[in-house]
Amino acid sequence: MLTDLVLAGTVREDVNLGALTTYKVGGPARWLLEAEKISDLQAVSPYDGTVLVMGRGSNLVVADEGFPGLVIRLGAAFSGIGLEGYDVTAGSSVPLPAVARAAARAGIGGFAWMVGVPGSVGGAIRMNAGCFGSDVSNTLTSATVFDLRTGVATEREPATFDYQYRSSNLNSHEIVLAGQFAGSPGDPEEIEDAMREITRWRRDHQPGGTHNAGSVFKNPVGDAAGRIIDDLGLKGTRVGQVSVSTKHANFFVAEPGATARDIHGLVMLVQSLVHERTGIWLVPEMVFVGFGE
Ligand SMILES: Cc1cc2nc3c(=O)[nH]c(=O)nc-3n(C[C@H](O)[C@H](O)[C@H](O)COP(=O)(O)OP(=O)(O)OC[C@H]3O[C@@H](n4cnc5c(N)ncnc54)[C@H](O)[C@@H]3O)c2cc1C
Repeated sequence: MLTDLVLAGTVREDVNLGALTTYKVGGPARWLLEAEKISDLQAVSPYDGTVLVMGRGSNLVVADEGFPGLVIRLGAAFSGIGLEGYDVTAGSSVPLPAVARAAARAGIGGFAWMVGVPGSVGGAIRMNAGCFGSDVSNTLTSATVFDLRTGVATEREPATFDYQYRSSNLNSHEIVLAGQFAGSPGDPEEIEDAMREITRWRRDHQPGGTHNAGSVFKNPVGDAAGRIIDDLGLKGTRVGQVSVSTKHANFFVAEPGATARDIHGLVMLVQSLVHERTGIWLVPEMVFVGFGE
């Protein structure tokens, strides 16, 4: 079936996937489908082969060898934002900062935290993205999920996602198409102020403008991965062209010439040094794709 779609030009072969991530490293996707409408997803279904649904690639590390399966990105039909009362509906390909700004303008509270997270609504629903004490699970009321294995889309309640800190039980064949969120009354100027403060804080404390994928490790309960790595004096630790940021120790920054192997190597090095010296096993928050087991 994929072969037919390649011939029809709907699915492209050997597309540079690393370039579509914020790290800008990594190899090609075997196949790439840029779905402009739901029928594009139905055309590849049922599909139970190796698959990666990709948002804005802001939490991904793609292996230098690439990804040996089908990569799906969502396009135009999944990019709308709707506001009604204090409810916000957003398509999966909408960037989170766009949700934050639209809600702020309409005086809808609960979304200011999204202003500095460079992911998409779909990726955020899958990862339970969050910061500054909020996350997706606080406001999500339902999500439309397309199952590639059946070709059927269903409305799902967040309770079915088993949300935990930065995780859900959504699997790689379940594509989030849109989310509905319940906001709260807010004053547009106060929300704008809060967003400015968040942006200022990030500029002062995180290595914005560099190639990275946000927090490398999840925070252990009651602690912060960045603090642990910093206290061990590991800022600046380097593997190849990737180093622990000198601004924030839970961000690993890639320089020109970096490889996914460098990123992976630094993650393993820091993880083992932290374990050796503190007994804590840090768990990666970034998603590694194409690395095998
Ligand atoms: C500078 C910077 C700061 C960041 N700050 C934060 C932060 O404060 N808080 C935070 O939580 N994260 C942060 N991140 C990480 C990242 O932005 C979030 O995890 C975001 O939710 C990932 O969204 P994405 O669209 O980029 O997903 P991707 O990176 O493309 O994918 C991430 C995961 O989501 C899945 N996925 C993507 N789209 C869909 C979909 N439509 N349906 C189903 N699954 C999907 C992918 O398969 C993958 O498993 C930061 C990243 C950067 C670069």
